[in-house]
Parts: sequence; C-alpha cells; structure tokens
Amino acid sequence: MERVDVSTSPIVRLRRLRMNEPLRSMVRETSLSKDDFIYPLFVVPGEKVRKEVGSMPGVYQLSVDQIVVECVEVRALGIPAVILFGIPEEKDETGSGAYDELGVVQLAVRALKKEVPDLLVITDVCLCEYTSHGHCGLVRDNEILNDESVELLAREALSHAQAGADMVAPSDMFDGRVRAIRSILDERGFHNTPIMSYAAKYASGFYGPFRDAAESAPAFGDRRSHQMDPGNSDEALREVAQDIQEGADIVMVKPALPYLDVLYRVRERFGMPTAAYNVSGEYAMVKAAARLGWIDGERVMMEMLLGIKRAGADLILTYFAKEAARYLDKTR
Ligand SMILES: [Zn+2]
Repeated sequence: MERVDVSTSPIVRLRRLRMNEPLRSMVRETSLSKDDFIYPLFVVPGEKVRKEVGSMPGVYQLSVDQIVVECVEVRALGIPAVILFGIPEEKDETGSGAYDELGVVQLAVRALKKEVPDLLVITDVCLCEYTSHGHCGLVRDNEILNDESVELLAREALSHAQAGADMVAPSDMFDGRVRAIRSILDERGFHNTPIMSYAAKYASGFYGPFRDAAESAPAFGDRRSHQMDPGNSDEALREVAQDIQEGADIVMVKPALPYLDVLYRVRERFGMPTAAYNVSGEYAMVKAAARLGWIDGERVMMEMLLGIKRAGADLILTYFAKEAARYLDKTR
C-alpha cells in the first residue's frame, strides 16, 4: 500500500494558552474572590473564652467579646459576612435559649452591629444546638414534630432580627419554615431582612466535626426524617422550588463537595443567588491530610473552593474563609 504522508501537527493546540501564568489567568473562567465567603462562628457563654475545636484545627468556640475581636480581624481581611451558631449555657426540651432575647447569638449580634457595623451578620436558625435531646425541633413519642417546631423557629428568627441580624438562615429542613419566618418578619416590620434557606440539606456524615463544635449531636435517633437522603437530586429541586416560593432570597446546598451535581442543577434551574456550605468534615479532611503531609493543604483548599464556585456557588460558607482570604492577598 502506498504510504500517505499525514501531518502529525495539530491545528488546534489548546496548550498554547496554558504556557505561562499571565495567559492562564487571562483566560481563566472562574476565580475566587473574598466577596464569595461567609465565615461560620460558634458563640459560647462567658468571657474571654477561646476554645479550639479538637476536630477542626483553627476553629474556636468564642465568647461574645472574643467574637468581636475575631470579627474585627475578619472584616480587616475583607471578608464581607459571618454566620453565627450559638451554644447556650443550658439546653432544654424546647430549645428556649434559641429565642431568648438574652441568648448568646442575640448578644453577639448586638455587640457586632455596634462594634463592626459594616460586617454582614447572618444567624443560623435551628434548635439543635439548644435542645437537650439535640434534635432540630420538638420531639413527641420519638417523632420530630414539624409544625410546632416551625413556630419556634419563626420566634427564633424574629428574635435574631430584633437583635439586629442582617439576614437569617433556617437550617432545620422542616416543611413550611421559610413561609412562617417570612410572614413573622414581615408582620413585625422586618420586610427587608433576607432569608438564606438551607434548601437542600442532606443527612450527611460530613457534619461530624461540626457537632463537636456546636455540641449538637442528637442524644437518640438521627436527622433522616427531615434532612435529605443522599441518593436524591430531583427531590433537591423540589425542596429548593418550595423555599423560593415561600420567599427565600438565597438558597443553599449542604454539604458542598459530595453534592456539586446538586449545586449545579440548582443554579442552572433557578438562577437564584446560590450558596454552598463547605462543611466541617470537608474542612477536617483537608486539615488532617495536610498535617500528615499527605497533601498540600493550601493548594487543596483553594482548588476545593474554586470547584465549589465553578459548580455554581455564588457564596461559599467555609471555615477556610480567613486562610483563603490571606492566600488571595498573597497571590494578587
Ligand atoms: Zn438543626
């Protein structure tokens, strides 16, 4: 057979635009900004408390005075927002610390709005950190009640707004909570307070370290009767649609990494401002592997956050916020 002279030289060379950093950065489709970050913080009673969470190196339980110190730093780093979780002095069956006007979160919000007024303060709205049984709502005969719990969540959200919270974020996954919160806020003159709903929140093993930090592990049973089954993503779209209809301003997918497909679908389908929660387990895995010298922690952190944004997140709740902000400063 006659030999045909085939050119092995490709016409299209995608590598041309990868040859140096200026080129790469010019054609980069997604990049991180500090404005993407929301930094989660854990408020505890007392004074001068700064207690590191064992399974989350670099993350602390902080008393109100220390939250203020921390937030001054957070703001100086250029991070626009924090989300507060509260651990009360005492827990009870009905989680009354959650809607106590002198509760830890309410006190922290007041202090922050006074001392760091231009930092956006979001509050997590749930009962699990406040109930003695560690469930997200009221429990009767081993059933986690929906409607009765929603009433308490609405009270909690209102008390956060009254303390000065800029945004409330219900994380319980009960049905109808966004509507209940929206209507009580509107009734009481907080019609301009937005709601970020944990819209598609999965029953996940990745929350382990958070439960150490928030001291909120359930005393019996689990959260599978209200949080989503990890196998479902069509259902996530229904959850998100429901929250949007009930008045959610921002919708969230949680956790982030194992659910990037869900995040992508939610962002594509609804085009809403979409948040993703880069949860404690995702954080702890990176920290642990980096400590062992198995990965380059900083590089993996940035790649992880970038991936979450590329998948569709406009906002990322992350324990890496401060480190990532410092990294962005260093590499700018
Ligand atoms: Zn909860």
